[in-house]
Amino acid sequence: MHTESLRSWLEYLRAQGAMVEVTRPVDLRYELAAVVKRLDGQKAVLFSHLAGHGGRVASGIVGSRELIAQALGVRPAELSRRFAKALERPIPTRPVPRDQAPAKEVAVGGAIDLTALCPVPTHHRHDAGPYITAGLFIVRDPDTGKQNVAIHRLQVIGPNRLGVLLLPRHTRQLYRRFEQRGEPLPCAIVIGVDPLTLLASQATAAYGVDELEVAGALRGEPLPVVRCDTVDIEVPATAEFVLEGRVLPRTRAPEGPFGEFPRYYGAQGEREVVEVMAATHRRDPIFHTILPAGREHLLLGAIPREAAIFDAVFRVVPGVQAVHLTPGGSCRFHCVVSIRKEEEGQGKLAALAALSTHYDVKHVVVVDEDIDAFDLESVEWALATRFQADQDLVLVSGSQASRLDPTSARGVGAKLGFDCTIPLDADRFRFTPIDIPGYDALDLADYGLDR
Ligand code: MN
Repeated sequence: MHTESLRSWLEYLRAQGAMVEVTRPVDLRYELAAVVKRLDGQKAVLFSHLAGHGGRVASGIVGSRELIAQALGVRPAELSRRFAKALERPIPTRPVPRDQAPAKEVAVGGAIDLTALCPVPTHHRHDAGPYITAGLFIVRDPDTGKQNVAIHRLQVIGPNRLGVLLLPRHTRQLYRRFEQRGEPLPCAIVIGVDPLTLLASQATAAYGVDELEVAGALRGEPLPVVRCDTVDIEVPATAEFVLEGRVLPRTRAPEGPFGEFPRYYGAQGEREVVEVMAATHRRDPIFHTILPAGREHLLLGAIPREAAIFDAVFRVVPGVQAVHLTPGGSCRFHCVVSIRKEEEGQGKLAALAALSTHYDVKHVVVVDEDIDAFDLESVEWALATRFQADQDLVLVSGSQASRLDPTSARGVGAKLGFDCTIPLDADRFRFTPIDIPGYDALDLADYGLDR
């Protein structure tokens, strides 16, 4: 199956003409990121020859909605619904013996030297150093036995040390409990997984939901996992790299700045520190890096968020058709929601629901179902012709907002909803789009013309 592992996915992409391989030596500092960025949204890249490093690096492996839809076996428009369904019915993982897990092919002996082991790129000009950007950070709650998976940015700050940004979510919640007792939090950092496990790691599920079980639901069968050697954590059995370690209690170190998804830098701060104690990897492993603010990064966040927004809007406006977090809004800040309006005022209600799903959602445009939420020119046309600012605007000031939006005041900002739906009692002729009878069925070839 092409979604079995990172390498089976890369082979699938290669066969589709959706991956290129770069065989000439490429510098891990900036040059690799520049090549990835040039191909952003168009091709995945495998770098098989790195200057001064024996490893290989892949990037851009889920660079378009079409590719993610192919991995899931659905049409692009069905992505958020498919993801929401997986969240409802997670499938438990399937443990496999150590000797059947490719992730265990090579056990690293002796002291860990992260940059010797992994080809870790430095992406942007003011980044504080090399960053692991596609590491699935896995921890286990000892009380419930449930694991949590998330991707946190990880700066290499020492031979076996990583500075980690833990936002106030699940990993940090668990870490704080360990830290209060003065204990380190055991963790595994998994780099180089299949596209569905990668996507599942971004689920905005409740605490207690193991994202690896969401991966199983996306696959339609249990995800094979293998137990780590030095920590009580299970990791995807086909992973390329597994770093085993612990987040140290009462230890902080400077981390950042780091170029983030809104195309600005996240600031330096005193952050938690991970000590890596052991590592295993596949033979001839492939390191995966996600270019920050690239399509892969944005879409991995967008699809689970769109699913959450779809659910939230559906609860109050059952006629919701589609949700699109747009690339110009960094797939976080700007949202288009299309609805089939059945009651007056549902446009504003849909906007309020979407705005409330996440502090990142800043501007929401609600359109009627005849507007394709993924066609931004149509969306702008609706904004131009179906919206009056004094009547159709919802403004909320002083809301929690993204700290990475440079106009927010330490994470507080305004939210805005644009109701671009046609009033139900409007004169329908005034809102009848011009059209030409016979246009849709017309075939230019009948007129001796191409296309
Ligand atoms: Mn979680």
